[in-house]
Amino acid sequence: MNIDGRTEIYGIVGWPLGHTRSPALHNAAFERMGMNAVYVPMPVAPGGLRAAVEGVRALGIKGLNVTVPHKVEVAKYLDRVEGVAAELGAVNVIVNRDGELVGHNTDVEGFGLSMEKSGAKVEGAEVAVLGAGGAARSVIRALIDAGAGGIQLFNRTLSKAEETADALGGADAGIDVRAFSDAKVDTIISDCSIIINATSLGLKADDELPMNPALIRRGQLVIDLIYEPWKTRLLEAAETAGATATNGYGMLVFQAFEAFRLWTGSAPPLDAMWEAGLREGLNG
Ligand code: NDP
Repeated sequence: MNIDGRTEIYGIVGWPLGHTRSPALHNAAFERMGMNAVYVPMPVAPGGLRAAVEGVRALGIKGLNVTVPHKVEVAKYLDRVEGVAAELGAVNVIVNRDGELVGHNTDVEGFGLSMEKSGAKVEGAEVAVLGAGGAARSVIRALIDAGAGGIQLFNRTLSKAEETADALGGADAGIDVRAFSDAKVDTIISDCSIIINATSLGLKADDELPMNPALIRRGQLVIDLIYEPWKTRLLEAAETAGATATNGYGMLVFQAFEAFRLWTGSAPPLDAMWEAGLREGLNG
């Protein structure tokens, strides 16, 4: 990498940022494409976001990823928010077009593309989504776009699940909402062909499972959006039951792929990104 006066700067803002694979993904793509650009982590504490966005304009930073906890708040500091980012009220990508800052959301497309890559049969499928936070919203939007037959949304806090469902079209869009404590949960999950964990349960080794693992059966596809740890206890249980188990790494890479396209107008080399993120996981 050769940094000089023409090097374009990209990065990721979040708090706490901790270990992130995004720099590895994007820098690998810049390198492979011979671009004079660099991507760096930029930890921004709550309360500092407005100043950070002003800094993007002042410093001519070309583009940013936005992650927890800033995805919702950042919209009000931008000039425009486009497409599904406006619909969901969540921005994970900022594009700086000659000083105009535009917010986008590539999590939805990222999840959709990762489902396509894994060969999942979403059209007409009954899908259980566990969790109703920001990630669940992107997942549900992508499932609706892919023609899912029905979405069974479960969450610890029922009111939050209702809010999420309403924002995405509610019952008219085929979304049914229940609390984890609902007596029908087990029967409904058993009947779903796809189960997606969009809670943060599984990030820590001693977390309880987001569902009863005895419900998982051969023929089901179980997706955990978590990719660190690479294989959560839920995915281990899925494999033991003979189900197909997939983690959230594909979503991460494909949202990065789409962000890169928005920033540069060119598709990055997917294989270089994919491999670099895997290597970073081993080092991190
Ligand atoms: P949010 O904080 O917005 O939502 C967290 C969700 O987890 C809520 O539904 C919350 O329920 C639930 N939850 C948290 N703790 C518990 C608990 N102890 N018991 C039951 N439910 C719980 O987070 P995000 O939506 O942004 O992220 C969710 C997960 O998705 C994370 O693990 C994150 O790492 C992953 N993710 C992966 C991405 C990828 O590219 N692969 C992209 C984005 C996220 P409640 O409403 O009751 O609080």
